[in-house]
Amino acid sequence: MLDILRRIVQEVSAARDLGQALNIIVRRVRHAMDADVCSVYLTDFDEQTYVLMATEGLNPESVGTVRLGFSEGLVGVVGMREEPINVDDATEDPHYRYFPQTGEEHYPAFLGVPIVHSRKVLGVLVVQRRTTQKFTENGEALLVTVAAQLAGAIAHAEASGGVSGLVNGNLHYSTPLVGLPGAPGVAIGTAVVVYPPADLDAVPDRQVDDIAAEEAVFLAAIAAVRVDINALVQRMTNVLPAEDRALFDAYLLMLSSDSLLNNTRQRIQTGQWASAALRDTIHEHVHVFDNMEDPYLRERAEDVRDLGRRILMHMQRGIRGGFKYPDDTILIGDVITASVLAEVPPECLKGVVSTRGSTTSHVAILAHALNIPAVMGAADLPVGQVDSKNIIVDGYRGRVFVSPAKSVLDEYARVVREQAALSAELLNLRDLPAETTDGVRLPLYVNTGLLADLTSARNIGAEGVGLYRTEFPFMIRERFPSEEEQRQVYRNMLEAVAPKPVTMRTLDIGGDKALPYFPIKEDNPFLGWRGMRITLDHPEIFLVQLRAMLRANSGLNNMKLLLPMITNVAEVDEALRLLRRAHHELMDGDESIVMPEVGVMIEVPSAVYQTALLAQRVDFISVGTNDLTQYLLAVDRNNPRVANLFDALHPAVLRALVYIVEQAHLHGKPVSVCGEIGGDPLAALLLVGMGVDNLSMNVASLLRVKSVIRAFSAEYARELLQHALDMENPQMIRRLLTDALQRQGLGALVQSGVR
Ligand code: PEP
Ligand code: MG
Repeated sequence: MLDILRRIVQEVSAARDLGQALNIIVRRVRHAMDADVCSVYLTDFDEQTYVLMATEGLNPESVGTVRLGFSEGLVGVVGMREEPINVDDATEDPHYRYFPQTGEEHYPAFLGVPIVHSRKVLGVLVVQRRTTQKFTENGEALLVTVAAQLAGAIAHAEASGGVSGLVNGNLHYSTPLVGLPGAPGVAIGTAVVVYPPADLDAVPDRQVDDIAAEEAVFLAAIAAVRVDINALVQRMTNVLPAEDRALFDAYLLMLSSDSLLNNTRQRIQTGQWASAALRDTIHEHVHVFDNMEDPYLRERAEDVRDLGRRILMHMQRGIRGGFKYPDDTILIGDVITASVLAEVPPECLKGVVSTRGSTTSHVAILAHALNIPAVMGAADLPVGQVDSKNIIVDGYRGRVFVSPAKSVLDEYARVVREQAALSAELLNLRDLPAETTDGVRLPLYVNTGLLADLTSARNIGAEGVGLYRTEFPFMIRERFPSEEEQRQVYRNMLEAVAPKPVTMRTLDIGGDKALPYFPIKEDNPFLGWRGMRITLDHPEIFLVQLRAMLRANSGLNNMKLLLPMITNVAEVDEALRLLRRAHHELMDGDESIVMPEVGVMIEVPSAVYQTALLAQRVDFISVGTNDLTQYLLAVDRNNPRVANLFDALHPAVLRALVYIVEQAHLHGKPVSVCGEIGGDPLAALLLVGMGVDNLSMNVASLLRVKSVIRAFSAEYARELLQHALDMENPQMIRRLLTDALQRQGLGALVQSGVR
């Protein structure tokens, strides 16, 4: 059964479009279930119906014409109940609905299971038999498993057009794809898909006018591969026996085979560019081999793939050279490297979407620094099918719309206009203090990892750097940076900001932040070796960093030091001991090296409940709400599947924050908040109400937060906080805060505006 499943899922995943995927499903499932009929009904959310989209066994002409309302027929009941229905004679069932065009009366035994993805019923998978004999329990289990496995693939395929797209031929799509916020902002533009060299699966569809030129590209690539392979054979003459070298003969044969040449050229003739034409021909061949029963022959599929990659590699040389990026480029890819991003002329780049990665990926950091909205981890985005399409990137919420419906487009166009107007207006606040109407002042700092951020930080009047993530200088190197290299990087940062303060965090790697030269492989990286745990286990790395920081601070004295991922008191004691040692050694003979203020990050629940003990040991507390939310709610901050559960406005997170502030203040220590919540204009009100002493956030949010703080009194913020703490979920709290901002005429500040 597993083998059958794997084969079906593989084939469906390789399908070029939803129609092809569904046809594969019905053919394969009918065979596997030994049924007379297999059909897929998909949900048309616009029309509130289930549409027969593919069938093997019923009259093929009924595809696209049979529609059932949400509670109509047995299919409707399966969808409504979200559970299987297995009956020996469907015609006897009161819900049964007869469609003469299907020829269905010949197949009374009916088993239907819902296809559910992310709690949404995407359709119903049905098998039927000629005899009045119920499907067995095993059969039912198989169908449920198939439907569960296929749900993801169907959701993926559907994202490029949706059911209404398939049925009505219009490809507008108004449901967003969910990813992770990578960099804030909203952009509307044209998709330009980038793909790694020689990855056939990543080649996008692209229509071309110059068919002769595409054919020439293809034929030149074939000739070049032939030269390569002949050279390989030559090289192998002395090392491989002739029979093994025959493998290469097979390659050469394939290269001149009619099916490879003609099929690809036929595809090019239809207006497809050479790379995609090749991709489809190779996939076709691979399928033939993949489906062979003989394991030896099945393995030949790999050779075909390899050959395809070689041809593609030659075709890709110079492809990008003449490429003209549209003025409103939204860069899209499975993996977008910093260099690919840098290839786009900056004035053309409006947004970035990656199907993998998270907020801490290089490209997200770069997008941040360039002030371009980015969405990461949009795993369901069918990259191969979106090139040149109209795209909306909502970097605030981590949402992507492909070919959006006009209503969605209009709404987002309004947001983009409002944001531009707002940014201009907010600049007036640049030199005003972040102070409530009753005189409570709250310095606002920026989070950064790059010097590039600092120009914008200065332009918006930030009062310093509240979180400098030192891992970035480590990430962009091929080895650990030396003490002197680090000193220079830190010095540049401190000098650029002086006399304002910079809070430098010691190395916080592990979890989702990997160094290419220090790989850590763990089953549960977020619960494993990360942050302080690594640096304490490697004092040689930690001490070098501490010395570099202390030396960089010499004469400037605007550095504070921050310890990440603290989970117990002993870690702080040990870190402080090492810091004192580094200080002592350096001070010897150099008066200018001073002991900086030291803070502890509270970002795990155990540290929350030890705030008092931690506060007594250090000078300040900084709350990392990104990790704190992740650990309190048990929601991986980088997993798009549970992204809707990740909410720092959860009452449990708010209560933890209230407790931290109370405890730290009891011991006379100030509290800073430096997670993303610090940059959320809604949350700012609550943080003021809690008595948080300062906030650190991304550059793009600073003036928004300032404008909220200046519009309210701290007393009112405290009242709102009391209301919020009585609420049971983040949605209610968000509503409460949005209303408060709207009443004050600040509705446009609510990020993204489209909810
Ligand atoms: C946090 O966890 O909130 C934080 C600021 O640190 P990072 O996002 O770098 O883990
Ligand atoms: Mg953290």
